[in-house]
Amino acid sequence: MLKAPRGTMDILPKNAARWHFLEDTFKKICYSYGYQEIRTPIIEQTELFQRGVGESTDVIEKEMYSFQDRGGRSISLRPEGTAPVARAYIEHKMYNLPQPVKMYYYGPMFRYDRPQAGRYRQFYQLGVEALGAADPAIDAEVIMLAREFFLEIGLDDLVLQLNSVGCPECRLSYREKLVSFFQQHEQSLCSDCQRRLMQNPLRLLDCKKEKCGFIAQKAPVIKDHLCLSCREHFDSLLHSLDALKVPYELNTQLVRGLDYYTKTAFEFIEGSHKSQNSLGGGGRYDCLVETYGGPATPGIGVALGVERILMALESKNIEEKLPENAGIFVAVAEHSLSNIRWELVYALRRKGFYVDTDFLGHRSLRSQLKTANKKGFPYLIIIGPDEVKRGNITLRNMKSGSQEEVSMEKLSVYLSSLMGERPEEGC
Ligand SMILES: [Zn+2]
Ligand SMILES: [Zn+2]
Repeated sequence: MLKAPRGTMDILPKNAARWHFLEDTFKKICYSYGYQEIRTPIIEQTELFQRGVGESTDVIEKEMYSFQDRGGRSISLRPEGTAPVARAYIEHKMYNLPQPVKMYYYGPMFRYDRPQAGRYRQFYQLGVEALGAADPAIDAEVIMLAREFFLEIGLDDLVLQLNSVGCPECRLSYREKLVSFFQQHEQSLCSDCQRRLMQNPLRLLDCKKEKCGFIAQKAPVIKDHLCLSCREHFDSLLHSLDALKVPYELNTQLVRGLDYYTKTAFEFIEGSHKSQNSLGGGGRYDCLVETYGGPATPGIGVALGVERILMALESKNIEEKLPENAGIFVAVAEHSLSNIRWELVYALRRKGFYVDTDFLGHRSLRSQLKTANKKGFPYLIIIGPDEVKRGNITLRNMKSGSQEEVSMEKLSVYLSSLMGERPEEGC
């Protein structure tokens, strides 16, 4: 039997409402913060991620879905959303627009990672990027936006962790300290870390291997090596968050797994310290646009993991409000009345009602009613020969069981009054 590829899943119709709930909430908040949607391709040139995310990161070394297309180009499924947005910013000369350019995205990302609870190879991210502003106020805004989203969907016990990972300038001296520290422990490091030690020592701080993590805990922290500009930036951000009464924790170990981060780095961690599950995070990337050959442009963004957020909602038993079936099922007593049925079905749909009917051939009225009942329709229209002669149909309220004859002409007005002014959205 064919199955969905390992690490991927189907989002079934019965679960789609939960996804819509997150997407709609996110879009609503982005709207109020002035972020507009950008949709970039799912495939990009492999080089985009190699140069931006960094050659010696896990994402690039182990997790990319890369292939040669039929034209011999190296193409990759996007493993994250920031590099494509930065590429689009340059390609479409968005640096000529009033700055900052504030964008949001939503869609699948791909990483060949070990599948586990809440972690998929095709996973969905909701994210925002603000390009063209260096002021720490925009860092605060991006953090506030993500926080608002979590609060709005009912995750009110997440811990915001913050760090500054510095800029190329202050990292220079920090790098030396880091290399000499890890060199003392070189024999105890995993092979990845040994290899990356000279190339990119910062990566050793977020190695997932236990023995490396243990050593990294004692490593010098960048906070003590920030240059004046980075320290002022970070202090100013903390100041803004204090003023907005946003609680946070400082985590000097937080470096994020991608090379493009500078200065601010943050994550939203699920309350239980046992799991330390990150539901989303982001940071500043002041050198990324320049890396791609664009004008020097500061940027900051956040990406939220939809599957993990859904898991967190589930574990907290937060039931999102699912729309009830607010529809009308149309049944015919005799096959000869079918034409009247179709006319009625399409006319009511045009008025905006959710209307369905039976598509399984000429079935008995009883079978049609059974289907309507199983699908939970609150209203049933029966087209019977006697009523039709009078220009009427029978309208049954499935909950109360009461029914009445209603003229076909006045039907939609009558239904509107029954169901409220506007027909509700169906499920
Ligand atoms: Zn610096
Ligand atoms: Zn390691």
